[in-house]
Amino acid sequence: MEQKKLTAALFGNPNCGKTTLFNSLTGSRAYVGNWPGVTVEKRSGTYRFSKDSEMDIVDLPGIYSLSPYTPEEVVARNFIIDEHPDVVINVVDATNLERNLYMSTQVLEMDVPLVIALNMVDVLEKEGRKLDVKALEERLGVKVVLISALREKGLKELMEAARDAALSPRKGHSVLPEKEIYSKAEKAYEAAGLSSPFFHAVKALEKDELEAKANPLPYEEVQKLAQEDGSDLEAAIADERYAFIEKLCKEATKRKRQKESEKLSLSDKVDKVLTNRWAGIPIFIVLLFVIFHLVFSEDFLYLSYSGLIQGTFAEGTMWEGLFYADGAIMSPGVILANFVNCLTGGLSTLVSGWFTDPSLVPLQGFIVDGVLGGLFAVIGFIPQILFLFFFFSILEDSGYMARVAFIFDRVFRKFGLSGRAFLPMIMGFGCSVPAMINTRSLNTEKERIQTIRVIPFFSCMAKAPILAAVAGVLAADFGWAASDLVALLVYVAGIGVAIISIIAMHLTTMREKVPPFIMELPSYHLPQPRALAIHIYDKGKHFLKKAFTIIFLTTIAVWVLSHFRWDYTYLENNQIGESILADIGRLIQPLFTPLGFGYQLGTAWGWAFAVTAITGLIAKENVIMTMGYLGAAILGTAEFAGSDVEAVEAIVQAVSLSGGTITSGALFAFIMFNVLTIPCFAAVATAHAELPKGKMGWTILFWLLVSYVGGTAFFLMCDYPWTIAIVVLLLAGFFTFAYFYNKKKSLEEKMKGAD
Ligand code: GDP
Ligand code: MG
Repeated sequence: MEQKKLTAALFGNPNCGKTTLFNSLTGSRAYVGNWPGVTVEKRSGTYRFSKDSEMDIVDLPGIYSLSPYTPEEVVARNFIIDEHPDVVINVVDATNLERNLYMSTQVLEMDVPLVIALNMVDVLEKEGRKLDVKALEERLGVKVVLISALREKGLKELMEAARDAALSPRKGHSVLPEKEIYSKAEKAYEAAGLSSPFFHAVKALEKDELEAKANPLPYEEVQKLAQEDGSDLEAAIADERYAFIEKLCKEATKRKRQKESEKLSLSDKVDKVLTNRWAGIPIFIVLLFVIFHLVFSEDFLYLSYSGLIQGTFAEGTMWEGLFYADGAIMSPGVILANFVNCLTGGLSTLVSGWFTDPSLVPLQGFIVDGVLGGLFAVIGFIPQILFLFFFFSILEDSGYMARVAFIFDRVFRKFGLSGRAFLPMIMGFGCSVPAMINTRSLNTEKERIQTIRVIPFFSCMAKAPILAAVAGVLAADFGWAASDLVALLVYVAGIGVAIISIIAMHLTTMREKVPPFIMELPSYHLPQPRALAIHIYDKGKHFLKKAFTIIFLTTIAVWVLSHFRWDYTYLENNQIGESILADIGRLIQPLFTPLGFGYQLGTAWGWAFAVTAITGLIAKENVIMTMGYLGAAILGTAEFAGSDVEAVEAIVQAVSLSGGTITSGALFAFIMFNVLTIPCFAAVATAHAELPKGKMGWTILFWLLVSYVGGTAFFLMCDYPWTIAIVVLLLAGFFTFAYFYNKKKSLEEKMKGAD
């Protein structure tokens, strides 16, 4: 029997388990693309009932409510209203019923077949809780199925229920009490010949902008009705929904008394600490530090504390350099990276050996340093990046990230941002590209612009090697504290500049207020390996794509520029001083004079920092790669075999030997310039795609200005501490002036309005 293929749409709050369900249902038969027109990710796949019976599944983006207008929410709502999927599967986190059912009561009002999937029954079972499915079905009027997306329980039953529901149309109905105003509003939409009239009517009563645009005529009519009514209908509707949900939840929850209430209070207790007004942010910072320490630290654990390990890993054993260096065991992330670098290093040597004929030297250089070097530089990052994504995924999946957004909402609101802006910023620590894409979940254009602009200040993974190498030199040669503390200082300074810029924008060019942000906190979950793997894969994919295209190609370009003279003569690694790249460096070097690494004019290697900052504009990975070439040239080794720290050290020494000085302030300013300036090509392209028209030029200017002024300030503050007072005074003066200027202006506007 030939049958039309049915489509089911998955729909629900964030963290309710949609992605997990989608993956369990579709297995490998999934396809990820974009929604037409907007660039919100669209996942679709198929579920197989049997060999010749399938159903299409679409994973709608996770949203908090059907009202505010992030592109995701518009996509999800329009999909249901306009595309008429054959059935909507509303995924509900059963452990968090009250908070999840709000949206269910809204979908209920649409004329679309609906099945509710109560997810995470495995958790309920473990906690000895039960839900009265019959009561839920009776009161909601649609089929309810208990499932566990993760343990793949109840999926067959769910899909059969979905197929049954899809075969017969459903009229929307509401849980709101009957009121004359509601039925009158509904009639207005019915008269206009629209489906889901009640849903539209309620949206119009809530003064929903999307509704006003979509159907202006009945909307106007409903506005008149509302005006006659005079009461605050928007608030009333929300209250009525919550009242219904509260009553329903009491009915449907069968408690195993005591034990469960103890459990509840434990999670509440945890929340009391984690979202505490004073403790919340410090706890988060400590957590970040622990994560960075695990991923990046070269001296993770000092051996003097553990004699046993010292015996095993002592200097001179085969483990040195792999697990152990300078009296300390390295962090798991670094050890992982070492193994990979060991492998790629071995491969390089092997390939190198194939070119024995002296005439092949340029080709050898091109293949080994240019092509393989680029490839291996990228591969070298993968272990640490994936490890970092692993920790971020744990924070996300456990429900902690939602709390972090909640904590930061209190702070951000003062600066004209909502707590949601925090998530893309944090993602910026991984890579700016997915982070900028993630700003689509923000409510207003203003918020998106501000967030995209400051995302690069949250130092990304590609900038980490710069921190590691230069901070290493600061620690080794300039008496600064441990290198991971310097790295932490850089991260904190970056965040500080981000906050200052946000406030500055809020006080000058972007004064609007953000709409209130209501966030439903998901319940805590123990992260599951399978879900973690999916999320790491999702995030890693973006990075790899970027890595294997742009970074790979630019490595080759940098190699060519640094190995040829203007007259096309090939140069050995250690002749880089005569290369095209070096000339470019000498040309732009004076520009960096205020930042402390530009005034060493005439010294042999003074241009080195300027050059690397420029190659960094293509990809931040290039900065340290170029340093490596320069280090090799200075040390006279054909192939650079030392560490990144040694390369930077060599440059600093070479400059001072030829009569210049690179101070610790200049080095710190160099790091900060790289953190704050125009990000890599890929991020610029992404920002261009995500920003509204006409904002890109200003954004580039903003990055240049902040990195230049910021770099200068950091240089001065490090080398001449008394300038801290001036910087602080200037900032305070600016903010006070802007604050009072705005106050006066808004007063004037009010007066005008009163006339
Ligand atoms: P989404 O935001 O709706 O896509 O939700 P995800 O699929 O990312 O799931 C959020 C978290 O809930 C993840 O940590 C999942 O491992 C977890 N999760 C999802 N379904 C289940 C389930 O049936 N049981 C349990 N115990 N955890 C689940
Ligand atoms: Mg998801």
